[in-house]
Amino acid sequence: MCRALCVFAYLAVVIVCVCSAVGQNPPTVSAEQIWSDLAAGNHRFVVGKTASRHLIAQRQALTESQHPRVTVLSCSDSRVPPELVFDTGLGDLFVVRSAGEDDDPISIGSIEYAVEHVGSTVIVVMGHQNCGAVTAACSGKKSESVNLDAVVAPIASSCAKMDPKKPETLDLAVRDHIHRVSEDLLAKSELLKEAVDKGKLTIIEAYYSLDTGEVTKLH
Ligand SMILES: [Zn+2]
Repeated sequence: MCRALCVFAYLAVVIVCVCSAVGQNPPTVSAEQIWSDLAAGNHRFVVGKTASRHLIAQRQALTESQHPRVTVLSCSDSRVPPELVFDTGLGDLFVVRSAGEDDDPISIGSIEYAVEHVGSTVIVVMGHQNCGAVTAACSGKKSESVNLDAVVAPIASSCAKMDPKKPETLDLAVRDHIHRVSEDLLAKSELLKEAVDKGKLTIIEAYYSLDTGEVTKLH
């Protein structure tokens, strides 16, 4: 028993030493810590005390590579820029945006690239208050083009969550859409699902309030 424990301890020390010696991968940071950092940045944004950044130095330091731990899939809305909302600098966020934060093949492919090649370990799917894409999808009106239809069609199923007679219930559709997109990422991407199953990737659902500037973690 004692001998077995000694062998186990020896192997553990060897493994730690080898890993330390390799030292090539950036240190692993938990999803909880990453979200905590994002929340802290969002708080600075909310209270108007954003960090001062040396963007020229950052730009020069990042010319050869990037290692953003976080990928954000968010709406293109001009009032919801992830880098500002989370008070981040160059190289911090890998951002994929489209009206209504759609998870079409190009968006998913971009996220897969971020996870597979630049080391993102957290995906934040962020929708927002008064989203125009969700409003259009739930309006019942016909789109003006096939391209606009491609934006609103994926949102339509979430409209069942709202009462069309009560516009103030739009938020229910917004939140449902965030959840559906997050689930669809795993349903549509084997690469992302495998990363989640192996504990290498965490998907966070988030909601941005235009009123307060706050990002709330939904799930
Ligand atoms: Zn929007």
